[in-house]
Amino acid sequence: MAKRIVIIGAGLAGTTAARELRERGQAVTLVDPAAGETSERPPLSKHLFDGSRYHLPFHLESSELITFVRDRATEITLAEAADQSQQAGTVHLASGETLDFTHCILATGMEANRPQIPGYPDALPVYNLAEAEWIREFVAESSTPLNVGVLGSGYLGMEVATSAVAAGHEATVYLRGDEPLRKQLSAPVRKALLDKHRDAGVKFVAHTSSPDEIQANIHNLFVTSVGARPVLIPVDGDRPAEAWEVNEKLATPHSGVWAAGDCAQITDGIFALDHPWACEPVAESHGKYLAELLGADDGDAGQPWADIPWHWSFQGPEKVFTAGLTSPDATDTIIRHDPSGTKFQVFHFDGGEPHARLIGVETLNWPPMQAAARRVLAGTNIPTRAQIGDPNFDVKAHSRL
Ligand SMILES: Cc1cc2nc3c(=O)[nH]c(=O)nc-3n(C[C@H](O)[C@H](O)[C@H](O)COP(=O)(O)OP(=O)(O)OC[C@H]3O[C@@H](n4cnc5c(N)ncnc54)[C@H](O)[C@@H]3O)c2cc1C
Repeated sequence: MAKRIVIIGAGLAGTTAARELRERGQAVTLVDPAAGETSERPPLSKHLFDGSRYHLPFHLESSELITFVRDRATEITLAEAADQSQQAGTVHLASGETLDFTHCILATGMEANRPQIPGYPDALPVYNLAEAEWIREFVAESSTPLNVGVLGSGYLGMEVATSAVAAGHEATVYLRGDEPLRKQLSAPVRKALLDKHRDAGVKFVAHTSSPDEIQANIHNLFVTSVGARPVLIPVDGDRPAEAWEVNEKLATPHSGVWAAGDCAQITDGIFALDHPWACEPVAESHGKYLAELLGADDGDAGQPWADIPWHWSFQGPEKVFTAGLTSPDATDTIIRHDPSGTKFQVFHFDGGEPHARLIGVETLNWPPMQAAARRVLAGTNIPTRAQIGDPNFDVKAHSRL
């Protein structure tokens, strides 16, 4: 029987899966209110103030093999077990229409948390194109430098504040603790970035435990950045509390339903985490992986997903990357600098012994070494703690073995 593949969500994961399935000659239906008009999210938080290109469309068009359904999926119901040789289930749409499928990929991404800031009723996150456009218009209309307030000090908040300062505006970051990027990066990288951002002029107001504490009438633009949560459509009434828990082949517990990108949390395999990876390279890799898995003639018999996950964040002039498994709480890491001492990498291991294996690397302002780190982690000859600790060990040369 012909496969009927429905992908819900035309963001990076969904668009990639659709494009790759089309290349394999497989027809797909892509459901998204903005299908055909979606674009990359990363430029949104980095180019609010510099006037450069921020709208990077995915350029996927409807064709014989790709059907766009510009609608919102509201729920999925699964077929009775007796019918499952014909179809696995049905997607229900806000319009009342339905789509039957043999295979369904959930790729609905995340939505931003939206705290109210009493002193700034117009405060908004920068999570989608409409929000970025509103802010860019506001910036374009102002004839004097702005005073930007940012609540939250994760990647997006830091990108907004640092890009504002780099463009000649003032920026103040309000954070709950006393150091930014506390949940994202290890102490040496956090500290280096804090020093650089402070030197550049970003102000930090630590220990802001509630938006009520933020003084009114200081900022003329206020951006909130306090996390996001997966968008989850119920499947036979089941809507998980956090994200779709998927196995190492990205399958949900529901037969015929897979999840990819920001709405999926991988619970098995080498890259299992207790939250979604929530980064661009992983969403793209998931899309490619599921296209290969579901597009193959032998059904879903393929290998587990095993690409090295990585993340990038450009904060004003600072470029920070992670690859593999890194932890913000790790203390037994090894740091290696470039000869000038300005760029460095933090290496994470699966233990403290000399033979412990390298599992992740953070890289500050050293893109070629981030590429080397990814190659090393993807290779078969993964270095040990003892090797990385040896000053004569050449990571770049090893990455090319
Ligand atoms: C501002 C910003 C900056 C970022 N910067 C970086 C970065 O520098 N580096 C990095 O690695 N990652 C970055 N990310 C994260 C990265 O963009 C995401 O990990 C990636 O977009 C996830 O892809 P996705 O396909 O899972 O979800 P998304 O790209 O979010 O797409 C989800 C799609 O699902 C659709 N959808 C939702 N609900 C429904 C429904 N019920 N029915 C139909 N369609 C639905 C939405 O309309 C959307 O088009 C950034 C994210 C944001 C928001």
